[in-house]
Parts: sequence; structure tokens; C-alpha cells
Amino acid sequence: MALAEHVRKLGALQDLDTRIRQWEEEKAHDPDALVELRRQVSTAEAALADETRRSEEAELTRRAKDKELQADAERMNKYKEQLLSVKTNKEYHALLHEIEGAKADSSLLEDEILALMVELDALAADVEKVSAELKIKQAELKKAEKAHAAHMAALEVEMSGVLAERETLRADIDPDVLKRYDRILVARAGIAVAKVGPDRVCSGCNSLITHQTLNELMRGQRIIVCENCGRMLFLNDSEGE
Ligand SMILES: [Zn+2]
Repeated sequence: MALAEHVRKLGALQDLDTRIRQWEEEKAHDPDALVELRRQVSTAEAALADETRRSEEAELTRRAKDKELQADAERMNKYKEQLLSVKTNKEYHALLHEIEGAKADSSLLEDEILALMVELDALAADVEKVSAELKIKQAELKKAEKAHAAHMAALEVEMSGVLAERETLRADIDPDVLKRYDRILVARAGIAVAKVGPDRVCSGCNSLITHQTLNELMRGQRIIVCENCGRMLFLNDSEGE
């Protein structure tokens, strides 16, 4: 097999290596849309936790105020009982004063409790709203995760074919040529071979190769690398067909 033929096979090998590289990238990074959905779900979860906590706090405050109100009522009843057994006018007026005080406290507490109940209703509505939003986002995420997993599984099957194809192809290429290819592949961000068309442009770096380089390439007696990017060049005959 002529050297040019080996290099030509490298073009096919490069295509496979590029696909494998893209696949590895895909495996390493989840799609932006999926990452964004996960972020939205955590935001909704945090919002629900926040609303729930506020609601629980308001409920605790309401219960505490209910107890205070009850204590005030008991205090008032006690004073009223005491009223029945007072001996002096001074004692009587002192008790009436206490009762008035307890009444004023109760009235204030009742207002506060009423306001809290309005707040609790609003908070309950908020919790319900945020909870519904969270459920929608969770369902969206679940669907997206499932679709992504299916996509990756299908890709895995496809790629096992590509890997096998790659091994077959490599077995058919001169080991020294392969060694150079592998070295450039690592050094040049996964692209080791570049095409050159009749326009003399290297597809790897878009620079113009010399006429002499093109002539040597056409002779196909040795491996020609791009003077600019160092990638192995092969002629792209198909261009212009
Ligand atoms: Zn180049």
C-alpha cells in the first residue's frame, strides 16, 4: 500500500477519533438545558422550604398569642371572682383597673391574631403556588433526564460500533504513521490530519501551503505536514466534484 493510501486512511481515522472525542465531551458535560432545569428545581425547592418555614413560624406565633389570650381571659375571670369578695372601695377600683388592663391586652391580642390569620392564609396560598411550580419543574426535569439517558444509551451503542471500526482501521495503517498521528492528535487538540484542496488551504489552520508542499503532497512519497500547524496533510480530491 502506498504511503498516500495510509495517510488517506488517517483521514477516515480522524473522523472516527473526532466522533469519539465529541462523545467523551458529551459524557463529561450534561447539556446546558438539563443543567438549567436542575438549577430551576433547586431554586423552586429552596423557595418552597422558605415559604413553608415562614408559614410554620407564623403558625407558632399565632399559637403563642392564642395562649396569651387564654391567659388574659383566665386573669379576667379571676379578677371578676375577686370582685365579689372585695371589702374596700380602693380594692374594688384597683380590681376594675386590672380588668380594664386585661381587656385592653386581649383586644390588642385579638387584632394581632386576626392579622396573623390573614397572613397565614396568604402564606398557605404561597406554599401551594410554589409547590405546584416545583412539581411542574420536577416533572420537566424527570422527562429531560430520561430523554438524555436514552440519548446517551443510544450513543453508547453507536460508539461501540465506532470504536470497533477504529480498531479495524488502525490495524490497517502503518505503525510508524500511526505513531506520528497519535502524537499530533494529542498535541493539536484532537485534530491530527488536515485536508488540502485545490485552493492550497490547510483545513486545520486555514493557512496557505506553498506550491512546493502541494507538489510533494501530490507525489505522495513521504508524509507532508503543514508548515504552520504541524498537522499531517492529505489531498482532498473530492473537492469540486
Ligand atoms: Zn495547517
